[in-house]
Amino acid sequence: MDRFADFLRLQIDIDLELLRLARERAEAGTEPAAAHLRGFRECELKTRLLTTHRWCGRGSGPCDRLGESYPPEDERGCPTRALLGLPYADRPGYAPRWRP
Ligand SMILES: [Zn+2]
Repeated sequence: MDRFADFLRLQIDIDLELLRLARERAEAGTEPAAAHLRGFRECELKTRLLTTHRWCGRGSGPCDRLGESYPPEDERGCPTRALLGLPYADRPGYAPRWRP
């Protein structure tokens, strides 16, 4: 049902895997150590936001209570979720209708 959220979780998982590889390169001394640290924090931020807004557009999310959610047929749920998808707009599976 929540195709957009599933897409976002997959993209975050892909980012995390790429960051794990970067961390391995850093530990091997072939890449600066700090290169991946911010990326891990950004993934945590995205995951927390997605979790907080998981029910938006279905009547019980924080944006529903504020009257800022999208209608149930809009897979994005709310403006926060739509913005979370923006960094992944060029990845396979991103639907143009998901743009904020
Ligand atoms: Zn929301």
